Amino acid sequence: METSQKKLPPIDAAGQKHVLKGMTLEELQAWCTERGQTRFRGTQLFEWMYRHQVTETAAMTNISERFREYLRENCILTTLKLQKVSRSDQGTTQKLLLTTDDGLHLEAVSMLEENRHTVCLSSQIGCNVDCDFCATGSMGFLRNLSVGEIIDQLIAVYRLTEVPVTNIVFMGMGEPFLNYDRVLTAADIFHHRQGFDLGATRITISTSGILPGIKRFIREKRRYKLAVSLNATTEAIRTRIMPVNHTWSIDQIFAELRLYKSDSQRKIMFEYILMKDINDSPEDALRLVSMIKDFDCKLNIIPYNETDGRYQRPDEEVIEKFLEVLYNRRGNIQILVRWSKGQDIAAACGQLAVLNG
Ligand code: SF4
Repeated sequence: METSQKKLPPIDAAGQKHVLKGMTLEELQAWCTERGQTRFRGTQLFEWMYRHQVTETAAMTNISERFREYLRENCILTTLKLQKVSRSDQGTTQKLLLTTDDGLHLEAVSMLEENRHTVCLSSQIGCNVDCDFCATGSMGFLRNLSVGEIIDQLIAVYRLTEVPVTNIVFMGMGEPFLNYDRVLTAADIFHHRQGFDLGATRITISTSGILPGIKRFIREKRRYKLAVSLNATTEAIRTRIMPVNHTWSIDQIFAELRLYKSDSQRKIMFEYILMKDINDSPEDALRLVSMIKDFDCKLNIIPYNETDGRYQRPDEEVIEKFLEVLYNRRGNIQILVRWSKGQDIAAACGQLAVLNG
């Protein structure tokens, strides 16, 4: 029920519609009260957009017809259009090509494995971190995604499959910590009980090592999982394949990570993409264990997914030898080997790239 008969104000001076997708509960409540509605109206909008993933105002049956009409005429509830779906691994991996309102393309990936449904989300269109082995890096950087565009990737996946999403990873296109505020706002909406209601430890944010972002994440005591893409055991090799290491070295990152309060549900995840003749020797395996053994951590080994042929996946026996050294020395480190899914549709780790412009 409306608290005021005040006339609904016009939309902004530029004549643009209000983009509601991506607004937080508090923002929607304030936005509604500015328009003579109750704060509760904002709560209803929040629930319709995120809990029920409704994009048509007609479905918002507990909102007055008059206000629904206002929303229909003046507001945007969807920010992305689904362009194409590619499937592989007997349909258990699906890559979604999505288009923004300004005509740019981005990708998200849905992966079903046993009782997990993981969705890999993009945080930017392109990326300027420029990791030498990554297809996204080769696209250059176009812009950050909005909160609504991050959320609409997940909603597009919900539309495509009946299987409930169990995990979200920010490992798609872009460096999440270079779009920190929006990524964390989207994560908060994913976690919100009246939003998508996903547990905090089911949301993982992966960084290439953006130190200010890592610091902020730790200082803010965020409850989401943190993954760090390590990929080398010496500063020289890491700088060669990940130029970001020029700015923030392994030593600096590790010094900061020592302040991270992990627990059994929330261990730091180190990711290590295994590349032929770059970082795949038994000595690398030994160094890797000694670097991370003091952390309460998981280690994710990802045999490289080839893109343009400049880097290759190591031969099977080299991978086996590397893993053997790791398993023999691992101590408390939990090791996972991720044979990435969706390679044939370029949906695997480091393969996401689209043509824009
Ligand atoms: S690996 Fe991640 S941070 Fe590096 S260029 Fe690719 S998308 Fe950017």
